[in-house]
Amino acid sequence: MPSILDTTPAARNPAARLRERAEELRRVLQAAAGAAISGEHAEVVDFKDVAAEDTRAAVDEVAQTLAADELAQVMAALRRVDDGSYGLCEDCGERIDERRLLALPATAYCTACQAIHERPALARR
Ligand SMILES: [Zn+2]
Repeated sequence: MPSILDTTPAARNPAARLRERAEELRRVLQAAAGAAISGEHAEVVDFKDVAAEDTRAAVDEVAQTLAADELAQVMAALRRVDDGSYGLCEDCGERIDERRLLALPATAYCTACQAIHERPALARR
């Protein structure tokens, strides 16, 4: 039985979009893991190369952390699809704006609550 939620573009098939995103992120993480393994065999000949290698490793680590974080969010969003709470803010329980869900299908918070989570010091302005 279709609900009102099902008529909005963002909610038409959030689960499919989220599963697609989860697949993408898993590929990123797998590629990163593969690069880390091949990197162990790379020969480093001077200090400049060592520095470049360190920088690249640091960037990869940040990208991997971001991908892992987002994957966790996507998986949590898929669980919310299953239990029927998808699209509702985890903090205030309000319906999350449709455009926000389109841009960030895995988001757990409405714009106002997200701002409080990201910038606790600025939220009091
Ligand atoms: Zn909220």
